[in-house]
Amino acid sequence: MDLDEFKEIIHRCFRCGYCKFTHNYSDFNCPSFDKYKFESFSTGGRMWLIYALMNKETEWSERVANILYSCPTCGNCMENCRFEKFNTFLVDIIEAARARAVESGFCPERQKTLLERTINPKYYNPYGEPNTNNEDLKQKYNLPNQAEWVYFIGCTSNYRQQDLRDATLKLLKSAGISFTLIDEHCCTSPLIRTGQIEPVEEFMNYNIERIQETGAKKVITSCAGCCRTLKVDFKKQDIKMDIEVLHTSELINHLLKEGKITFDSEINKIITYHDPCHIGRHLGLYDAPREVYNNIPGIDFREMERIKGDSWCCGAGGGVKIGYPDWALEISKERLEQAKKTGAQIISSTCPFCRTNLSDANIKFAMGFEILDLVEILDKIQITAHKK
Ligand code: SF4
Ligand code: SF4
Repeated sequence: MDLDEFKEIIHRCFRCGYCKFTHNYSDFNCPSFDKYKFESFSTGGRMWLIYALMNKETEWSERVANILYSCPTCGNCMENCRFEKFNTFLVDIIEAARARAVESGFCPERQKTLLERTINPKYYNPYGEPNTNNEDLKQKYNLPNQAEWVYFIGCTSNYRQQDLRDATLKLLKSAGISFTLIDEHCCTSPLIRTGQIEPVEEFMNYNIERIQETGAKKVITSCAGCCRTLKVDFKKQDIKMDIEVLHTSELINHLLKEGKITFDSEINKIITYHDPCHIGRHLGLYDAPREVYNNIPGIDFREMERIKGDSWCCGAGGGVKIGYPDWALEISKERLEQAKKTGAQIISSTCPFCRTNLSDANIKFAMGFEILDLVEILDKIQITAHKK
């Protein structure tokens, strides 16, 4: 939506400040305010700044743009703003204001590379890696051209977290799922989050057409960003799609509940779970991953203090990892310290982008954890498929 359509909402935010806290106000839970301790770096302050920009009471500048971009779009503000008539729009407003920054020529340089790489026909991904059409994977895993499901791998799993990708492919095979892959282009999440929306519709239509060519009516994603984009942003963009989208944790949980798979060996480790913001607060998907972990024999599953709606962000989203890489790692370090208190050996998540940032911080700050996605943990145990 265009920023102008939000003007009334922006005006109605009266800057009470709930949006920067946990639900019980025990601490700041907006990573942006926690870092900068200045009101403009919380959503209430940003609403005031955006309103002033719209009314031409202040002007665009690099400084103003950086305030708007210093937010990993974690959604804590949506969760903890008490004004239910508009709290669901708060991150949309930040993204729409970023689109206005782009139009006004103030997109920060590092975030611009996301667009430059993604629209480059050599890449079609924000990492600037040569585009793969996934035909080699289709051959390796003996996948058909027509299938019931498409596994939408996503750029981070395909170009940065290939262990996670391969674990997902093996899991889908061993569970007996009829699936295939497509020649994906970026799902557009990084572009939407950073306001660089010009090519978004074209990319969405391209991906939907490729999915439809397979005859699949269902899509599985292993990335929280792809999942939110395919479930929410495609609809917002009015993309015509008669396709159900599930996150891997949802599919695995369904298969367990239907008795179609069982976990038949143990993993004797202490594990804690990091809720990815883009399937957690953005989609409300909290229980399915937890139910899967709790079905793994031998696991000692321990929760951190801040979970679900109060989860502390990993710091990677919203263009923060590319735009402010040191700060992204500081945010993750805070999460690793929270995990330390549980006594966990493994921090597990259900998003390759969280996995990347948590792993980078784990190495940089020598925290000594093993960081693994849920599917990578499942890759270590015996899974049996049952015909039902
Ligand atoms: S966004 Fe909501 S919680 Fe934050 S200042 Fe505005 S009204 Fe208050
Ligand atoms: S999305 Fe997260 S980081 Fe951004 S303003 Fe809201 S609470 Fe703060």
